[in-house]
Amino acid sequence: MLGVRAVTAVPLGSANSSGAAGPLSFQRALQQARGGSGQASGASGSLPPVDVSDAMRAAGNGRLPDSMLVPIGQGGHRLGPRAAEAFGRLNAAARRDGVAIRVTSSYRPYDEQVATADRVGLYGQGGWAAVPGTSNHGWGLAVDLDLDERAQAWMRTNAERFGFFEDVPDEPWHWTYRA
Ligand SMILES: [Zn+2]
Repeated sequence: MLGVRAVTAVPLGSANSSGAAGPLSFQRALQQARGGSGQASGASGSLPPVDVSDAMRAAGNGRLPDSMLVPIGQGGHRLGPRAAEAFGRLNAAARRDGVAIRVTSSYRPYDEQVATADRVGLYGQGGWAAVPGTSNHGWGLAVDLDLDERAQAWMRTNAERFGFFEDVPDEPWHWTYRA
């Protein structure tokens, strides 16, 4: 989710085990703030919209029934059907290139969105969480990934082919399915 946030905040500990997320993401945020050439997303305003189906909207953000969620082959992580299918293809392509894409967060029920907001603060207040009920995690359309430097680079080169976009400038771990 985009929002007004401080760019100097400390990234989540789980975001990137290499510790590279902080400086990298700060550089990117700064670059984008200056109108420089960032990734093909975010600041350019050319992102495809997030496609929330009528059925999803009727169920509600963070209140999707099990029937609308599909396992993505890592732990108990699940996404909406189209996002899950696309992520499966992305993951397979990464594996063929010898790159590991580790999921740390996926569909996030409403109660977990509340807990996350409590823990890391809201965007509008310099934190890292969307207002509960508005997160793309709540639609089963976003994943948080634990990426080493090579995997991050692979995602930035390839993820868009599978419909995944790095759409929050200072959260290099957060990828949203937009297709
Ligand atoms: Zn996220």
